[in-house]
Amino acid sequence: MTLIVQKYGGTSVGSVERIEHVADKVISYRNRGHDVVVVVSAMSGETDRLLGLAKAIAPRPSPRELDVLLSTGEQVTIALLSIALDKRGYASRSYTGQQVHILTDSAHTKARIQEIGDKRIRADLEAGRIVVVAGFQGIDEHGDITTLGRGGSDTTAVALAAALKADECQIFTDVDGVYTADPRMVAQARRLERVTFEEMLEMASLGSKVLQIRSVEFAGKYNVPLRVLSTFEEGEGTLITYEEVQMEQALISGIAFSRDEAKLTILGVPDRPGVAFSLLDSVSSANIEVDMIVQNIGRDGTTDFTFTIHRNEYDRSLELVKARAQELGAREVTGDNKIVKISLVGVGMRSHAGIASKMFRALADEGINIRMISTSEIKISVVVDEKYLELGVRTLHDAFQLDRMPASIKPINAGFNSVSAHR
Ligand code: ADP
Ligand code: ASP
Ligand code: MG
Repeated sequence: MTLIVQKYGGTSVGSVERIEHVADKVISYRNRGHDVVVVVSAMSGETDRLLGLAKAIAPRPSPRELDVLLSTGEQVTIALLSIALDKRGYASRSYTGQQVHILTDSAHTKARIQEIGDKRIRADLEAGRIVVVAGFQGIDEHGDITTLGRGGSDTTAVALAAALKADECQIFTDVDGVYTADPRMVAQARRLERVTFEEMLEMASLGSKVLQIRSVEFAGKYNVPLRVLSTFEEGEGTLITYEEVQMEQALISGIAFSRDEAKLTILGVPDRPGVAFSLLDSVSSANIEVDMIVQNIGRDGTTDFTFTIHRNEYDRSLELVKARAQELGAREVTGDNKIVKISLVGVGMRSHAGIASKMFRALADEGINIRMISTSEIKISVVVDEKYLELGVRTLHDAFQLDRMPASIKPINAGFNSVSAHR
């Protein structure tokens, strides 16, 4: 008997009809002889709605209370799905994170899973029941409810699959796999049959919200076979895999973008040891994460710094940096929160030069000015003005011909080590 963990996202459980559809889908897997554990998100829009209620009362609600509030969304859908399964004559049980004992640290609104109890789930599976678990939530050592960060149901599913040693973790969503770019922005985007963990991790970190970053980290660490599929259409989806495909690798696998960017520039900082530390420390000691950092070559005994942060932290960071810059005797602090980041990702970059210049030229030909650049072994990111986001992404998709299957790569439907329903 194979064990599958399936996760259905917000759109997939967005209405009573859709929940009933999910019940039918789960049953179709069950009827093929699989044990099934299902993880569900809140109904689409529900988490935002709840967040809106809290913010209507206080602009910065206590993270502990936010977790009590936001976790209710998933409690609704587990019960509704179990009711739908029962109606169809299939025994099932729904569980909150606390009931399963999904133990996390105490970092409210962004908690990390530390341990998962599998006793109750195993007993249910043994008894032939379908198990339905609330995504996104856990409990800390004090018994307080925690949540795992936006999109966290993906991580619940992968962590459960790891704990239960499932044969596959299937993420069902409103697109039929991972694409070369967000298909909602690039009509020509192409579904990838496979993508490596490494690439998926970069794409998720660089803004592709199709999988939460931590779910990919987990899958890579515990070697969980992970697949992204559509709730609404049949298909093989995209397999996230360890192998760097047997054949020659595509140069670029995909394009990711992030709208959540902002930058701060500190001009005329006295050029002496410790200034970089001091400026960064002003934000990092307030728990604000810094992404890209650029320091210009010093002139006349002074230097300039620019760094990027999450757009939500812009106002607070500007305040903190201004105060520190004044202490350091810097000339001026400026900021811009209308910037975005566009990234090319591909393990094929390792063995090919010239990708950056092709990227920069394609953007220049469209008159898109690059504000910042950062590279790693398998990605190149640029920061550009917000108004160029769509143009930039589409231009790069075209320039690297991502709509076409690389000549050396053949479809690999045959021989899939898959437990999907439609074979
Ligand atoms: P769910 O509610 O099922 O978790 P999400 O909205 O979190 O769904 O993730 C699915 C969405 O991710 C898609 O609707 C798509 O717009 C977006 N997306 C971003 N980048 C990609 C990509 N490279 N491939 C596929 N989908 C992507
Ligand atoms: N409901 C949560 C969110 O909207 C978790 C999830 O959907 O994965 O972020
Ligand atoms: Mg999601």
